[in-house]
Amino acid sequence: MYDVIVVGARVGGASTAMLLSKAGHKVLLLDRATFPGGKAAATNLVHPPGILRLKNWGLLGELTATGCPPIHEYGLKSGPAELMARLPSVDGVGEAYSPDRAELDRILLEAAVAAGAEFREGFSLRELLRDEDGTVTGVRGESADRVTAVEHARLVVGADGSNSTVARLVGAEKYATRPVLNKSHWSYWEGIPHDGRVRTYRHAGKHTFTWPTHDGLTIVGVALPVGDFKAGSEEERDRTVISAFAEVDPERAQLLRETKRADKWLTGAVPNFLRRSHGPGWALVGDAGYTRDPITASGITYGLRGAELLADAVDSGLSGRTPMPEALARYERLRDEMVTGHYRYTCDHAVIANHTREEIAFIRAMSRSPSHGRDMVGMFATMVDPARFYSARNIHALLDHLEPGGGPGWKLRFVRWLARGVPRHVRPAARLADRLIAENLGPMGEYLLAPPGHVVRAA
Ligand SMILES: Cc1cc2nc3c(=O)[nH]c(=O)nc-3n(C[C@H](O)[C@H](O)[C@H](O)COP(=O)(O)OP(=O)(O)OC[C@H]3O[C@@H](n4cnc5c(N)ncnc54)[C@H](O)[C@@H]3O)c2cc1C
Repeated sequence: MYDVIVVGARVGGASTAMLLSKAGHKVLLLDRATFPGGKAAATNLVHPPGILRLKNWGLLGELTATGCPPIHEYGLKSGPAELMARLPSVDGVGEAYSPDRAELDRILLEAAVAAGAEFREGFSLRELLRDEDGTVTGVRGESADRVTAVEHARLVVGADGSNSTVARLVGAEKYATRPVLNKSHWSYWEGIPHDGRVRTYRHAGKHTFTWPTHDGLTIVGVALPVGDFKAGSEEERDRTVISAFAEVDPERAQLLRETKRADKWLTGAVPNFLRRSHGPGWALVGDAGYTRDPITASGITYGLRGAELLADAVDSGLSGRTPMPEALARYERLRDEMVTGHYRYTCDHAVIANHTREEIAFIRAMSRSPSHGRDMVGMFATMVDPARFYSARNIHALLDHLEPGGGPGWKLRFVRWLARGVPRHVRPAARLADRLIAENLGPMGEYLLAPPGHVVRAA
């Protein structure tokens, strides 16, 4: 009899198993894969809050020892607007890394085993065991050589990815769902000097991206709205991606031509949803509970943070400090609070709409205001809540950084006058200004118009 069985031994599962084992609980960690497995389909970027968790768990040294370079700046270029800003810090950690996923998974798995978790690989969950009330009490699974085994536990955690078997077996419903919004081509490049920067570009319905990763390699790719995506041969994909760079950054396109792709092209296409993540005898963590478009590269960071939240809740339940159902309900509430704003932002970003003239003027203003620039990249990196970034106060302050004179266009000059030029007590003018700005911000505009204390829904 185990305290907890965790199904899935990667970011969400291995971290949860490690933390629960460290807290003294008896944990069985299962995965149908054998390790080290193949390369996970991910572009690997881990934002500072994820790196902070690795540091707190004593694992950052091992990660940096793999030679993976730190990343300090993120940027966005759209038309004439170009923003490149240093990441904010969280508890002294202000860098991101894009480690080899197999290495990150290995580090977390070894830490779970070192903390006392029992690990069984090549073992697929087939069924959940339940008592007469329907409470989950264990698992029935099958090894690679088709030997069936049954294991019992007080709690079964599904950390088995977005197509979670645990979620299917308990009937955990999805909410705030959005379909696949874009598809991407991406690969690894060799020979490009690293400069600690994530570069993203928005142009002509394409989101182009590149950043340094492990082993001297560089991630290179482009995401397109689903209807515009064509798979094509390897050579056609070379042309698609390099021409997307040529449109936004000719120097980088030239660098790509002069250097070499080091792997085959991969395709990314991810649906968007939250899933009910607890019930009698079960819980979900990582992508099983929350899956979102990779455009903001946040699944690993949220997987690590979610593991921390879940392990706290489960420890509290198992040790009797809080009734387990209450502890798990709190976990799900905190998880949703943690991801809601960023999820909206991600879905908005993932549509890959061209920026309007007004949005471009705003991005230029952000590049002129150090605090807005830092907060904008912090928002991408899951560190700044969009509700705060798009608050009326912050956006009004941004108006001061619009280019003087004719730069922003008459609409924004009028808005700036309404918001800043009309005396503050003339509230209708400020409200009209907010409405006009919000029209240019898509779903993010809701934050600007939300009354204080109002919680904007997930998507
Ligand atoms: C194209 C693409 C690019 C991405 N880029 C980034 C990025 O740059 N940064 C970032 O943070 N995130 C990125 N992500 C997202 C990231 O990969 C995921 O968020 C992360 O892998 C989720 O980790 P997890 O542990 O929840 O699940 P997974 O990594 O999916 O692991 C689930 C595990 O469960 C096991 N399993 C499944 N079913 C069973 C079963 N029935 N029995 C036993 N075991 C089972 C699997 O074998 C697997 O090992 C990207 C995703 C995609 C698709």
